[in-house]
Amino acid sequence: MGQDIAVSCACGSFRAVIRDASEQTGNHAVCYCVDCRAFARHLGQEARILDPSGGTDLYQTLPWQVEILEGRDQLAVLQLAGRGLYRWYARCCDTPICNTMRTPKLSFAGFSTANLDASSDVLGPILLHYKADQATGPVPENRGSMMRLMYRTIRNTLRSRLNGKWRQTPFFDAATGRCIAEPRVLSDEERAVAYAG
Ligand SMILES: [Zn+2]
Ligand SMILES: [Zn+2]
Repeated sequence: MGQDIAVSCACGSFRAVIRDASEQTGNHAVCYCVDCRAFARHLGQEARILDPSGGTDLYQTLPWQVEILEGRDQLAVLQLAGRGLYRWYARCCDTPICNTMRTPKLSFAGFSTANLDASSDVLGPILLHYKADQATGPVPENRGSMMRLMYRTIRNTLRSRLNGKWRQTPFFDAATGRCIAEPRVLSDEERAVAYAG
């Protein structure tokens, strides 16, 4: 049995819970990619989200484990570019919440651990320091295994597809496949600012 992890935006208007989080269904990783950094920067949240090397500490889980308790109407979706991931944030205080794929059929939700009330033994060890070549500072020598993380992510996504649990998602209307908030793509100007520096 896993543990429940509380999720909250900075102001507390948006609250959710990740149910039964465990080693089986969760992956803990740090992403140093410029896109994750641009997302934090666009929302003015570098201080809350980014580590000193420009990394975003993430906990990947499955949408069917996520239950929104309060502030569903505060959720908004950004895309850095037209075909990018859905990057969810709470518009009450511009807190980056999680990333999902653009379809509910691929069960995946990567939460910023900055918003999670969970000890490191619930999140598990960091399995991967991803895109370390894009870091802005030192990255641990042992970067982990991309293969291992990919395997675990694909396994969990496939399993959810086969057992039908992908339909239980707070982020999409499973019947229509539509996102619960209208995704907005950054303008060229916004993108230039978000990726600068
Ligand atoms: Zn808020
Ligand atoms: Zn990233």
